[in-house]
Amino acid sequence: MARGALARWGVESIEGVAAESIADGGVRLGNGTNLEGDMVFVATGIRPSPLFRNSGLPTGEDGGLLVNDFLQCVDHPELFGGGDCISLAKSPLARVGVYAVRQNRPLHRNMVAFLEGRPLERFDPGGDYLLILNLGDRMGLFRRKGIVWSGRLPFQLKNYLDTGFMRKFQVSGELQESREE
Ligand SMILES: Cc1cc2nc3c(=O)[nH]c(=O)nc-3n(C[C@H](O)[C@H](O)[C@H](O)COP(=O)(O)OP(=O)(O)OC[C@H]3O[C@@H](n4cnc5c(N)ncnc54)[C@H](O)[C@@H]3O)c2cc1C
Repeated sequence: MARGALARWGVESIEGVAAESIADGGVRLGNGTNLEGDMVFVATGIRPSPLFRNSGLPTGEDGGLLVNDFLQCVDHPELFGGGDCISLAKSPLARVGVYAVRQNRPLHRNMVAFLEGRPLERFDPGGDYLLILNLGDRMGLFRRKGIVWSGRLPFQLKNYLDTGFMRKFQVSGELQESREE
């Protein structure tokens, strides 16, 4: 359905070849083809920084810091991590903000507990997460637990959830003023 939406927007997909370089608004592909464009967006997906691998730390297959259920580096218990840069040893998770947000509290609690010598809390990734893609033109693509649904309502739901989530992180005028002081 997502591919169908791209095709409807006139987006051509070229697969099985890597982009080699970007220069002067054009992209050169590994097979020698040059693609011209007014604007180039790089949307290559998420890959953890090579910092971990280069430091000789244990990493998952894609280079994320390998952590246990307590979000603690498997070889260095004094190192903690969460979000896109880690790889859970038991079951690597998709790199989505949903997990980064879910890890936030246990990560903070465990770091404090570690410093204070208290027992750590296991991170529970929770169940499947809701995925809604914005297909443009106020259309969305909903996917959860095997149910896939495309239409206007998924977009409205995404918009409602996203704006509500962003509102939670707005700094209030009062707080901003006290910071400026
Ligand atoms: C376009 C886009 C749309 C997305 N939409 C969604 C969505 O709708 N729902 C969802 O769940 N997820 C979404 N995601 C994924 C989500 O944004 C990430 O999974 C989430 O932000 C990961 O959080 P994080 O704290 O691990 O990393 P980040 O949010 O990437 O934060 C890492 C921070 O570390 C900083 N940093 C990096 N290197 C260094 C360094 N060497 N020194 C100091 N600081 C450094 C960076 O500047 C950044 O501020 C989206 C991602 C993108 C790119």
